[in-house]
Amino acid sequence: MNKKGIAVLGSTGSIGTQTLDVVRAFPDRFDIVVLTCGSNATLLVEQALEFLPQAVVVIDEAQFEFVKVKLSHTAIAVYSGMQALEEVVQFEEIDVVLNAIVGAAGLRPTIKAIENGKDIALANKETLVVAGELVMGLASQHQVQMLPVDSEHSAIFQCLAGEETNPIEKIYITASGGPFRGKDRSFLASVTKEHALKHPNWVMGAKITIDSASLMNKGLEVIEAKWLFDLEVDQVDVIVHPQSIVHSLVQFQDGSIKAQLGVPDMKLPIQYALSYPHRLENNFERFNFLDYPQLTFEKPDLHTFRNLALAYDSLRKGGNRPCVLNAANEIVVDAFLKDKISFLGMSDVIETVLEKVNYLARPSLDDYIECDYAARRIAEEIIN
Ligand code: NAD
Ligand code: MG
Repeated sequence: MNKKGIAVLGSTGSIGTQTLDVVRAFPDRFDIVVLTCGSNATLLVEQALEFLPQAVVVIDEAQFEFVKVKLSHTAIAVYSGMQALEEVVQFEEIDVVLNAIVGAAGLRPTIKAIENGKDIALANKETLVVAGELVMGLASQHQVQMLPVDSEHSAIFQCLAGEETNPIEKIYITASGGPFRGKDRSFLASVTKEHALKHPNWVMGAKITIDSASLMNKGLEVIEAKWLFDLEVDQVDVIVHPQSIVHSLVQFQDGSIKAQLGVPDMKLPIQYALSYPHRLENNFERFNFLDYPQLTFEKPDLHTFRNLALAYDSLRKGGNRPCVLNAANEIVVDAFLKDKISFLGMSDVIETVLEKVNYLARPSLDDYIECDYAARRIAEEIIN
């Protein structure tokens, strides 16, 4: 059997390290061709020495010498800088690029990989939030698979297996509700990053953890789902499900609903994206119904968690709105993590930025990059 060649972008992060856990368990099936990180050079070197890829990229140029020296006795090529990401994803030996970078920084490497015929295992939801129409158009043009890693989208993707000729009536994306589920705005006014970083069901990178607390993550996932599954906005519903066992659901035209269930563990959607269309035997924890005698569902509170409403609104307006929403959100989350802005202040800034950046109905890639930059600058001005 030919091994599947895999590039892991963002290999040192939460999804990246779990991807390597999956790969480690199937040495006969997967082969790591490229590993990349932002600045965690020590972990990147450790991973490179274990998986012996052809190349590694460390985005932070200050870490380049360190990585180069540490890998000098190997045949592994070492690169640095964002441009290098767009080069390494083109390597012939790569079949799938698993993009686990955080933020809009993941967009250009995804596009380059698609243009070179690589299938995409996509954790980096921001790619589709910023430029979903453009990216999905390129994917269909180059006939590459977009394989979701996000657990909700993987659930929907799994429910759709075998249903290729059956139209979707609607989908339900489940949301845990995060650490502040059930709280009101007066409570949220004084919450700190320490509160927000304590997610009830998942351990993830800092940015997505804050996004989960503010429900922006669900907003980004609604946008991601619209493009991945080619839906109208009104076909994408969010339902709060605090136990995070039902990972999402699809309703078909006869009213039948299919759901995918399991314990919350990102290794399963990662593995399915890499092994698709096959399922591989593993020893991950199994779900026990008696541990969860009650699975509950409730309506999301869009008044308290305005980010979700802002995301729906941006998606309805379309064009560059989701790109602006995402860029502003990246800045406010970073500011919140640095104690420069309050939890509720995040939505206020995003809303103002959405008002200030000019609307573009059909942006090109360059337009998206300019709007992303403009939105970041305006958000920073407001915060400082
Ligand atoms: P993380 O912060 O743990 O890891 C991010 C990775 O990207 C790291 O390897 C980091 O070095 C690298 N990186 C950071 N900034 C970069 C930049 N500007 N350019 C290139 N590389 C950069 O994040 P994560 O939690 O693993 O999330 C990664 C992506 O997956 C996000 O888009 C997130 O929304 C999505 N996702 C994560 C989870 C999860 O459970 N963690 C679940 C679903 C979706
Ligand atoms: Mg998710």
